[in-house]
Amino acid sequence: MDGPFAWYLAGQLHDAAAGRAVERIDVAPGRWQANVMLMHCAGQVLQRVHARGKWLIFDFAHGVTWLCCLVGRAKWVVRSPVNDAASGAMPSGYSPTFATPTIRPRGRAKRPAAAMRPGLLEIHFREAGSLQLFGRPLLFTLPIDLAMKHPELTALGPDVAAETFDLEDALYRIRQNPQKTAAAALLDQHIVSGLGNALKCQTLFAARLPPGQKLHSLYASELSRLVAHARAAGQDALLALRQGQPIRYAVYDRLGEPCPACGADIQADRSGVDGRWTWHCPVCQRLPETPGLFG
Ligand SMILES: [Zn+2]
Repeated sequence: MDGPFAWYLAGQLHDAAAGRAVERIDVAPGRWQANVMLMHCAGQVLQRVHARGKWLIFDFAHGVTWLCCLVGRAKWVVRSPVNDAASGAMPSGYSPTFATPTIRPRGRAKRPAAAMRPGLLEIHFREAGSLQLFGRPLLFTLPIDLAMKHPELTALGPDVAAETFDLEDALYRIRQNPQKTAAAALLDQHIVSGLGNALKCQTLFAARLPPGQKLHSLYASELSRLVAHARAAGQDALLALRQGQPIRYAVYDRLGEPCPACGADIQADRSGVDGRWTWHCPVCQRLPETPGLFG
């Protein structure tokens, strides 16, 4: 999940549940090693849901924080009495309206709601409604002071979806990885946080850089441009989500389609050496003729 989805989802969860007292937390039998700290959040007020990078952060009033990273098919679903009444034959209150947005290659059918397995856990609120967690997410329960010092959070680079973004810090971090490819650097959450594979492809296309371009061969101005485009891709994606618009990817998942800039066929390969496929335009994102300063 790209960071902007986490930020958007955190906003949705915060609006639905912040300030509400937890009545109980149900854990699916046989599917979850119930954590004592997690269960102790019953009776407490969920104060805030926010995001950093790809992490969702749930702060409870008694100083306990959950860190949750949605991986794979994991998702949070908001249940309310209204959703229950409208759910009909769907499994207990599953509401696709509030499901975590996912990036799905075109042509692949959405998994039907009826096929959803029971939730991993469900937070019931005192007045009404609940939040349900599905799938196999990463989930840590920690005292709030330790949560903010958790290595998963402290090591994160500047966040492309956050309101403020330290460009100099991102450049400082990128210069410490001269041997990385541009694609690998964008996915490295310690350099800039919040980019997944789709926004990585979007950023590389906007910066007109081939995925396999090594950072040491780029001029300072090109590095600045790369980071600025990463930031812009994150902000554009978050804005689209908040406006209910689809995120428009120029090349991601568009194998064989014409490049929006030059009309050449979009290619997909593993030239980014980042363990993922990269969609790119072989014309617009061609390697430069002359090597960079240290190339
Ligand atoms: Zn092109």
